[in-house]
Amino acid sequence: MKKKIGIVGSTGSIGTQALDVINLHRDKFEIVFLSCNSNVDLMVEQGKQFSAKYIVSAGKKFDAEYFGIKVLYGYESVIKLIENEDIDLVLIATTGFSGVLPTYVAAKRGVEIALANKESIVAAGSLITEAVKRTRSTLIPVDSEHSAVFQCLMGQNRDKIEKVILTASGGPFRNRPFDSFDHISKTEALKHPNWSMGAKITIDSATMMNKGLELIEAKYLFDLHPSKLDVVIHPQSIIHSMVSFVDGSFLAQLGYPDMRTPISFSLMYPERLVSGVKPIDFKTLSVLTFQEVDFRKYRCLELAINVLNQGNNSLMIAMNAANEVAVEYFLKDNLSFQQIYDVIEGTVEKYSSKNITDIDEIFELDILSRETAKQVVKKLKRG
Ligand code: NDP
Ligand code: MG
Repeated sequence: MKKKIGIVGSTGSIGTQALDVINLHRDKFEIVFLSCNSNVDLMVEQGKQFSAKYIVSAGKKFDAEYFGIKVLYGYESVIKLIENEDIDLVLIATTGFSGVLPTYVAAKRGVEIALANKESIVAAGSLITEAVKRTRSTLIPVDSEHSAVFQCLMGQNRDKIEKVILTASGGPFRNRPFDSFDHISKTEALKHPNWSMGAKITIDSATMMNKGLELIEAKYLFDLHPSKLDVVIHPQSIIHSMVSFVDGSFLAQLGYPDMRTPISFSLMYPERLVSGVKPIDFKTLSVLTFQEVDFRKYRCLELAINVLNQGNNSLMIAMNAANEVAVEYFLKDNLSFQQIYDVIEGTVEKYSSKNITDIDEIFELDILSRETAKQVVKKLKRG
């Protein structure tokens, strides 16, 4: 029997790579739905190629039926499909907070989840992981670090974990002198040395907010106290993360930096699939290096660690929302690179730390935080 799959965000970096993997295994998968925000032309092509039952555009009006594919409009349609269709696994590959609802709805229904969207766990970590437990669903991380940790923890006793160490490439500015950070341009920030990804996560990698979001993601996915989590810079991005145990053993997962490896793992877990990624050639791989994070350069990561340490999710929601707003303004040339931090910090300080477990309250705080972040931007602009 084929595995029935729905993809939220099929036209993005993760979505298209997932379809590349699925294309290698047409006998194993059936596409129930594909969805995008507005890149309808690509989605239609994908829908035809994979004989999708439905294609859904969340942001661009369009309702029709052709080539035997039902075409739907609106984000609610994506949610309804997850709630009602016969689906085995949903891949959440949309960006930002828009991942919260589809992930939560899939978890509540007990549909298996391949989760690329880290922002949903940052904003609604306990809500989602508790729903997954309740319905005995499975949540398989797609984020390369978390896929690595997930694999290192298979068959292990969680009580014997000493540390979970997330690796970070350090992004494009690892070697850039700190005194030139005020002059970082958008083009420079969009050039990631190792990974080719969507714009938002590429900027998050340059500020290292991405690693901050990932620490929070790891806390919830693996139910870890923040003291068990650590980050190390590993410029080659070959070791995707490591776990150390009480006996002094370290387990690590290695591979070339290519998302098709964790994507393929998430699609067929616990089985493995040929992903199209070539194996590491250790004879030509000369060095693997590691270094500490310079928090002067990566203030966003430091802020995220502080938010992680206080434990509750209200500040995580505020931080995530402010980061999305700040990155959006930066990408529109309305904010400097260093001001991304200022917006997040100026927003987070306006909220108090508490635990929010109601989905509506999570949405309300997200909206409110975005408004606050926009006010902070205005203030910064006025100087
Ligand atoms: P992209 O920006 O490349 O793609 C985002 C996808 O989501 C597109 O298909 C986009 O459609 C769709 N989308 C955006 N907003 C909405 C919405 N409101 N409703 C429905 N669909 C929407 O992002 P990435 O693929 O890079 O990243 C996706 C997620 O995966 C992020 O959370 C990121 O942090 C995470 N991730 C990504 C990695 C990577 O290598 N790219 C690595 C690890 C994690 P459209 O094309 O129409 O805009
Ligand atoms: Mg990652």
